[in-house]
Amino acid sequence: MSLVVKHGKLLRGLVYGVAALFCLIGVVVVEDQFHRQLGVFQDSQAALLRQHSVAAFERVQEQLDGHRLQPALLSGLELNLNGGCLEEPARVFLQGWTQLRSQGLRAATQRVQAWPESGIASPQAPRLSVVDGTLQLTSHIDLGRACAGGERLVLETRTESHALTLARPMPSLAADLVLHVALQPGAQPAQFFDIVFHGEQAEYRPSATAFTPPAELEPGLALVSEGRFQMVLVDEATGLRAVYRSEPLGQDGLQRYLRFNARELALILGITLALLGVLGFLLHTIGLSERLHRLSTRDFLTGLYNRRAALELAGAERARALRSGRGFCVLQLDIDHFKRVNDSFGHDAGDIVLQFFAECLRGVLREQDLLARMGGEEFLVLLPETDLLGARQMAERLRYVLHTTAASYGQQHIAVTCSLGLTAWRGVDDDLPALLKRADQLLYQAKQQGRDRCVDDQSAADTRAV
Ligand code: GH3
Ligand code: MG
Ligand code: MG
Repeated sequence: MSLVVKHGKLLRGLVYGVAALFCLIGVVVVEDQFHRQLGVFQDSQAALLRQHSVAAFERVQEQLDGHRLQPALLSGLELNLNGGCLEEPARVFLQGWTQLRSQGLRAATQRVQAWPESGIASPQAPRLSVVDGTLQLTSHIDLGRACAGGERLVLETRTESHALTLARPMPSLAADLVLHVALQPGAQPAQFFDIVFHGEQAEYRPSATAFTPPAELEPGLALVSEGRFQMVLVDEATGLRAVYRSEPLGQDGLQRYLRFNARELALILGITLALLGVLGFLLHTIGLSERLHRLSTRDFLTGLYNRRAALELAGAERARALRSGRGFCVLQLDIDHFKRVNDSFGHDAGDIVLQFFAECLRGVLREQDLLARMGGEEFLVLLPETDLLGARQMAERLRYVLHTTAASYGQQHIAVTCSLGLTAWRGVDDDLPALLKRADQLLYQAKQQGRDRCVDDQSAADTRAV
């Protein structure tokens, strides 16, 4: 416990240091992890974008190829035109259907519809639509005028594809990734849809945000802004261009990070709080033991050491002097006629004077000097590594200060003097009680000789000689 008290300040600094260091490390670790994970998620986002854009592009290409086949097929057919009108659409339908199958288009449907006479421009480019999570391409070919009813017969071809599901689930941070797609078949205007990933699922959705793809597009993957990737695919043969753009992760990256690492962060927070609690308890204990020690060693009025602590410290100082061989001096001080202060100005004024006197003493002493209030208006000073001459100078400095300043009590100024008994340590056989007794006797002589003076071994001997 005494160690805690002795090195209290150091320990407190250490505890604060450890707490600050731990918090700093925690912040650095979390920040580092945040950036690492963001990197991983952005990489996986890019990988997902690459994988899906290529797959989706191939599917659209495949679908387009199927649609493109239809006009070529029809141009080779001899339609059974009877007087300029069409009677047998079934044959056309069958031929087209067989071709679609041979293309390996999994989900394709065909039907012949009767349209109003105005008809359509034929052939018409396939139109894109998103229905129930699937991507549909629909094209129409005007077959000719129907014999019955004066309408035109139109062959409708529809192909559809589902988004791929993920082979490996994405890290949950990147799981709800949204890809915006702009698809431009040849010179046609761009058409838009989204690919939305949640968990292991991916599906096509109608476009939430149409964006204008830049005119100059370099095929390949690029980071277009913070956390936003863009994949451009171009098919020279069909003129199909597609721009796949990911929703930036950075926007709510922190929120996703917190959600993803919730358990881990809670653990770190818990450990930090527990550690801070322990450190707080340590600080409290150190503070408490310091306070207890202070209460038991200090005089409450002046803050100086009390008698008990003074005797202990003086003993330790004597032991040090024994080892080092360097002498020291002891002074007993007593304020002159202090009773009169109490009698004239009251006990409170007396207290103020005692505090004032302690301040004067502090002012004339060095850091390493021992200063204590032994009781009442009596004080003890121990000057390590100081000879009689040096101690006398200190005593004179104190007397000078007391002569030139005064304690303030309300509007009053109360000046006091003091008497001092000064003795030097005489070596191994000179123990503490002997030293204190001598200093006391010298103080008594100073009082006898008229107060406001310092009597030391030397001056006492001189007086005796006279
Ligand atoms: P001398 O010059 O011979 O030392 O005379 P003195 O009046 O200083 O000595 P004396 O021993 O007769 O009186 C000391 C007084 O100090 C008596 C006591 O009431 C007062 N005293 C002791 N402790 C305190 C204290 O804590 N506060 C106050 N205000 N007075 C105290
Ligand atoms: Mg006195
Ligand atoms: Mg006294």
